[in-house]
Amino acid sequence: MRVGLGFDLHRLVEGRPLILGGVAVPSSKGLQGHSDADVVLHALTDALLGAAGLPDIGTIFPDTDPIYKDRESAYFVKEALRLLKEKGLRPWQVDVVLVLERPKIAPFREKIRSNLAWLLGIPEERVGFKAKTTEGLGWGEEAAAAWVTVVLKDGA
Ligand code: MG
Repeated sequence: MRVGLGFDLHRLVEGRPLILGGVAVPSSKGLQGHSDADVVLHALTDALLGAAGLPDIGTIFPDTDPIYKDRESAYFVKEALRLLKEKGLRPWQVDVVLVLERPKIAPFREKIRSNLAWLLGIPEERVGFKAKTTEGLGWGEEAAAAWVTVVLKDGA
């Protein structure tokens, strides 16, 4: 069994879609970045890669490469899973903490959970997802951050 931890943070800006865990969430602001800037899937990708002892997302998929421009971040998760499979590893369980002030994520929680389960090929009961605010203390208005842990098991 192997454990991985991933973290990511992106700035919230006007005029961008807000994509979290592969789900479009209606919002006046979205996340700034080279790809679709999905903090949840970026942190998940890093957790998967880290658990397998592989380099991080920015090393494998550099944001200077135009092929990743505006790309759906599910691509990074799928590529990480392919690299894991080559090492004889598969995801077993995942737990996510997302932090942002608004919009409220609760109405999208189950959709995000089932999308993560589908992407990883694991049952929903092994997908944890919590959305937290910064209690109005500041940066939650300006950015979204995600922490993700994964457990991998042997067997592709
Ligand atoms: Mg990122």
